Amino acid sequence: MSDDVRDFDEVLASYEPVLGLEVHVELSTASKMFCSCSTQFGAEPNTQTCPVCLGLPGSLPVMNATAIESAIRIGLALNCSIAQQCCFARKNYFYPDMTKNFQTSQYDEPICFDGLVSLDVEGEHFDIPIERAHMEEDAGKSQHQGSTGRIQGADYSLMDYNRAGVPLIEIVTKPIMGTGSLAPQVARGYVGYLRDMIRALGVSDVRMEQGSLRCDANVSLMPRGSTTLGTRTETKNINSLKSIEKALTYEICRQGAILFNGGKVIQETRHFHEDTSTTSSGRSKEEAEDYRYFPEPDLTVIAPSRGWVDQLRTTIPEAPHLRLAKLKTAWGFSDLELRDVVAADAVDLIEATVAAGCPPPSARKWWMGELLRRANADSMELYELPITAQDIADIQGLVDSNVINDKIARKVIEAVIAGEGTPTAIVEDKGWTVVTDTDELSRVVQSVIADNEEIATKIREGKVQAAGALIGQVMKAMGGQADAAMVRELIITTLTDP
Ligand code: ADP
Ligand code: MG
Ligand code: ZN
Repeated sequence: MSDDVRDFDEVLASYEPVLGLEVHVELSTASKMFCSCSTQFGAEPNTQTCPVCLGLPGSLPVMNATAIESAIRIGLALNCSIAQQCCFARKNYFYPDMTKNFQTSQYDEPICFDGLVSLDVEGEHFDIPIERAHMEEDAGKSQHQGSTGRIQGADYSLMDYNRAGVPLIEIVTKPIMGTGSLAPQVARGYVGYLRDMIRALGVSDVRMEQGSLRCDANVSLMPRGSTTLGTRTETKNINSLKSIEKALTYEICRQGAILFNGGKVIQETRHFHEDTSTTSSGRSKEEAEDYRYFPEPDLTVIAPSRGWVDQLRTTIPEAPHLRLAKLKTAWGFSDLELRDVVAADAVDLIEATVAAGCPPPSARKWWMGELLRRANADSMELYELPITAQDIADIQGLVDSNVINDKIARKVIEAVIAGEGTPTAIVEDKGWTVVTDTDELSRVVQSVIADNEEIATKIREGKVQAAGALIGQVMKAMGGQADAAMVRELIITTLTDP
């Protein structure tokens, strides 16, 4: 059953979208929030559990100090106030992925509150008000068995509690207004900003596709000129930045159609479908759930000292957009070049390559050319390729000192990725150096000329541009290892000098 949708611009002419973004970030602490179990991703199911994270009676939680430090640093990076005192609370509900029957979370006293993120999207400036950033624990993971792989139509479900108790930070915005037709892009830009900032803080690997960064996107429509918020929907299951934009665009068009037809938007959670870029109805949220929150009696109050918070403030990295603006100037990239680099997640790699001595345009050329092609072909991220920024800087160094040329450089890259050693060792072992010996080059040039009389005649008659074809032949004969400039020179002097 497909929903009625209206044209995006038509909806925007009559309604103002209001956004609310909830982002969950899984912290990359070594151990869980309240016990010493490992948080390593991908272990055998139920091998990283203990009485505390399984919620066995009588077990007692102990707070993870690193997680609290990470929460404060995230809050500071988002310009939040840090609570002088706050506590954990029990959020009571039953679900098989949570054996305690309550989630240890924060309720009316979040550790970070009232923040602000400044964002530039498509040349416009937006201030995103942050309501709170609070600490909580993750639940286990259900694996629904059956043809659908989802709970609907499953034969039975298996439970993996390795994730139960992994520390999470939930960052919630206030209702975001005034984004107009850029609403979907602003949402995407904001989550991208959080991802980059949190990655720079080094407290999470923020991988949307692995679930270490998750976004629930709320949106409602408000008639233009009104100040009363409309009814919102909350879309879940969004696992890429692109999908945030698509899910919100769809929801705006869908809610617009309902309102144009005189209907009422139902407050509910919705699920995003990657394949169709649509959302479908999930759970109704018309009545607020009563979770019977109460302060967690087994944990003490958290009261970060002023001195600690001030010290943590000195560890906050520069905001991503300021850093990008500086790098753009330093590297001399165009807007488009920088945008492509950002989209390919190559900023850090290029920065490291430049730091290792490579000129910025060359660093960009390798990472955005050869290496990006290779990563895409293998469905990998650039940084997952088994080649380092130092390797690329070394390879470019060999090109710049004329030991190898670009063509050989590509072979060296392949060999490094195949694990055959460092660039210098590979070039030495394989004898892949550029041939600059005039006698050797001349011999090949002569034989290529002899085999290509027609082209040679053209060059003799002054058609120098025909030399390209002969250079190609020489290169081919020498396995790409000739110095192209020298070959060109030799061909032209041989054929045109009296
Ligand atoms: P829930 O428990 O339902 O997820 P939260 O308070 O955690 O509720 O998150 C709701 C999000 O939606 C917040 O970001 C909030 O600012 C935002 N929000 C609240 N009301 C509206 C509305 N009418 N339209 C759009 N966003 C809203
Ligand atoms: Mg929510
Ligand atoms: Zn445990």
